[in-house]
Amino acid sequence: MCKTRVLSVSAAQAQFETTTIERRPLRPDDVSIDIKFSGICHSDIHIAHGDWAGGIFPMVPGHEIAGIVTAVGEKVTKFAVGDRVGVGCYVDSCGECEYCLRGEEQHCLKGAVATYNSLDYEGKPTYGGYSQNIVVTERFVVLIPDGMELDVASPLLCAGITTYAPLKRWNAGPGRRVAILGMGGLGHVAIQFAHALGAEVTMLSRTKDKENEALSFGADYFYSTLDPETFNTLAGRFDLILSTVSANIDVDLYLSLLRVDGTLINVGAPPEPSQYNVFSLIASRRSIAGSFVGGLPETQEMLNFAAAHGIVAQIEVIAANQVDEAYERILRSDVRYRFVIDTSTL
Ligand code: NAP
Ligand code: ZN
Repeated sequence: MCKTRVLSVSAAQAQFETTTIERRPLRPDDVSIDIKFSGICHSDIHIAHGDWAGGIFPMVPGHEIAGIVTAVGEKVTKFAVGDRVGVGCYVDSCGECEYCLRGEEQHCLKGAVATYNSLDYEGKPTYGGYSQNIVVTERFVVLIPDGMELDVASPLLCAGITTYAPLKRWNAGPGRRVAILGMGGLGHVAIQFAHALGAEVTMLSRTKDKENEALSFGADYFYSTLDPETFNTLAGRFDLILSTVSANIDVDLYLSLLRVDGTLINVGAPPEPSQYNVFSLIASRRSIAGSFVGGLPETQEMLNFAAAHGIVAQIEVIAANQVDEAYERILRSDVRYRFVIDTSTL
């Protein structure tokens, strides 16, 4: 057993407190990681605030983990002490079902074990990355490429794979017009991936405040969604719209921006159900889709692709005692573009 300091909440909406938990003893296929940085995803807020289903408390959020390997079990083959590694949204899965076998562990039929707010296969709660140490089976650990700093890499473990996976799946690339809706943690890396994949990229944000930064991340165009003229100008334009918005959107309005066969892909996960008129689909043979993080092989592929194209998150590093304030700022969209906790301050 290894004791580790963590930031935990005792109930939905409670303030964070510093406590201590014990990580499990190293199993033969386990990797023990000294966490250096942990990104704050908007999903952490949804989960810690009880926006979605009920939470398991006390809760230690965090699924954008970057750190250094400090010990490995005797059967570990992929990692050695000193390796720079990451852990994302999942820490275990059955490893045998059709989805695990094809590297889509997030869809495991037994139910993949989430990095936090989940029960492992022994029935014990999992605790995430707002912590100084974590023990994870090696199948769920990825290598952070040389030259990529751990702090700017950590958000890629969720924000990166969540946007890269659907952009690849729906063929964002040369000759395709892609709109990214919402420029937060996910949105700002989505611009970079869509641009690097060769698509024409349009950023759709509420205000014009982030225009210059969007263009510097690789957007070709930028429009304000608060300006009604935007929806006339861009009608029928896009092959894909990737919505990263954490609140409900006017689905019919955004569908009107898709060309024939266009797809609105939702990765943003608002708590309330949304509505649309089916004629918005029928008229131009459009689709509405969703996408959920990504599997481990694709997470490693995403990190390698990011390293090859110089893609990282733009971050604001904070101390452990600033996390409550950071949550409030994210809810006001006052973050450019990801808060990352320096876990040495715990
Ligand atoms: P974030 O940093 O808060 O960014 C969300 C962006 O959405 C904001 O920057 C803002 O963009 C826009 N937005 C927020 N409130 C809005 C409102 N009321 N109306 C219109 N636009 C609004 O959040 P994030 O960490 O990127 O996460 C985004 C969403 O993705 C969350 O719901 C999260 O839970 C979800 N998520 C899903 C997955 C998955 O696997 N599907 C994985 C990770 C996260 P502008 O200021 O540019 O308008
Ligand atoms: Zn996340």
